[in-house]
Amino acid sequence: MAKFLTTIDITYEIQKLIREANDTLYLVSPYLKLSVNFKELLKIRNADEKITRIIFGKQELNPEELNFLKPLRFVILKYYQNLHAKCYLNDDKMIITSMNFYEYSMQTNKEMGVLIDKSDPADEQIYNDALSEIKRILSNSDDFDFTPIVEKTPSKEKTPSKFYSKKQSTVNSKKQPTNYSKKEEGFCIRCKKSLKLNPLVPFCIDCFNIWKKYSDEEYQEKYCHICGKGNKTSKLKPACIECYRKNSKVLEFPI
Ligand SMILES: [Zn+2]
Ligand SMILES: [Zn+2]
Repeated sequence: MAKFLTTIDITYEIQKLIREANDTLYLVSPYLKLSVNFKELLKIRNADEKITRIIFGKQELNPEELNFLKPLRFVILKYYQNLHAKCYLNDDKMIITSMNFYEYSMQTNKEMGVLIDKSDPADEQIYNDALSEIKRILSNSDDFDFTPIVEKTPSKEKTPSKFYSKKQSTVNSKKQPTNYSKKEEGFCIRCKKSLKLNPLVPFCIDCFNIWKKYSDEEYQEKYCHICGKGNKTSKLKPACIECYRKNSKVLEFPI
């Protein structure tokens, strides 16, 4: 059964929820200001290469939060202007509360919340309904625009958004595979998830969102987009050398 939480309980349970999160972690809060403890937890999670999705709603994110979140490649920051809900969830627990993910609120405000445990049959439906709602908010949210800290490579004309629109227009491309073997499945060069074969878009959506934060085309990835075998690839060179040689005439590559 859902459990009532006071301010102290909420802070404690959010920490626990982040610490125990496996693949799923959503932090939904209009305002963001992270305490040292929370920063540490998010850093650890980031080092484990686990994705954290944060949806916030107040555009004026202070520079300190910005500088902290920017280098965390596995944190996806989304912006939804009319967000007022506060909700925190991992793979099996969820907290719905009045409390923002905001240091001051955790120390000073009078807040209330409810802890929901997905493994409890009485709570499972609430968890699933709230998760669906979060996903709806997420799909209508904007990417938060991090400007790169340093320009590692001379800026290329290709921006991520153009890059995506290019994907849609490849139908007319002169290099479209015509008599190419039926292989249409490729792999995400970062996580190896299977996806549509297209060396110009060698990431799954999740990995692309993370990559886009820096848009570093030479950042080293782990897999060949075409054969899926372990290989030092990058957005610029998404295939192993054998796959590149075999396919360079029939598929369009970034270079
Ligand atoms: Zn991926
Ligand atoms: Zn390959």
